[in-house]
Amino acid sequence: MIPRPILIVEDDAALRATLAEQLALDGEFAAVEAETAQDAQAKLADADVRYDAILLDVGLPDGDGRDLCASLRKQGKRMPVIMLTGADTESDVIRGLDAGANDYISKPFRAQELLARVRAQLRVFDNSEDAVFTVGPYLFRPSAKQLLDTARNRKIRLTEKETAILKFLYRAGGRAVPRNTLLVEVWGYNSSVTTHTLETHIYRLRQKIEPDPQNLKLLMTETGGYRLNPRGAVD
Ligand code: CA
Repeated sequence: MIPRPILIVEDDAALRATLAEQLALDGEFAAVEAETAQDAQAKLADADVRYDAILLDVGLPDGDGRDLCASLRKQGKRMPVIMLTGADTESDVIRGLDAGANDYISKPFRAQELLARVRAQLRVFDNSEDAVFTVGPYLFRPSAKQLLDTARNRKIRLTEKETAILKFLYRAGGRAVPRNTLLVEVWGYNSSVTTHTLETHIYRLRQKIEPDPQNLKLLMTETGGYRLNPRGAVD
């Protein structure tokens, strides 16, 4: 399993550390911590780092988490945001959701419940129309099984398996994924599909997405597996 990066924005150091530990416990998530709204903004501004979801405290020392959420949405950031709220009166909840948050959880909460909410939001997001990822020169929209070459305004259609392969490699965040992991993720545990089938799909995918399939820039071969270079092939 490749941990998915989650940003925790919370000024309560003890709570933040507990959350980070719980998220990382099963290797499912990797937490990055921010103490203030400003700290969070700075981390989110780094184009080389991606966060799959944000846990966002309402009461931050330098601002209101809901305002930060609204500002992130204005900047076009669409990942799931779950508000951590101390004030669970209805108006506070509604304000949080109005600001573009996907869910909220009132303190004190059980870590297991929060994890369940994070998983649920990621499931929804991963399958939503909103999920758009930048892969090299393309905008990758898994829900439409499509890559848009923005510079040429050209659409590339992908098969279901090609979409699944690309999505999983993207989630790996530039790390190599072993062939067996990809086989299980894309075809399932009980499938009798062999690495040869996977290699055939990778070959076809490269024909579609690599500007020059003789000179790989995006879908790299690594020892035992493959790696997506999401910032490759961009001139
Ligand atoms: Ca707080």
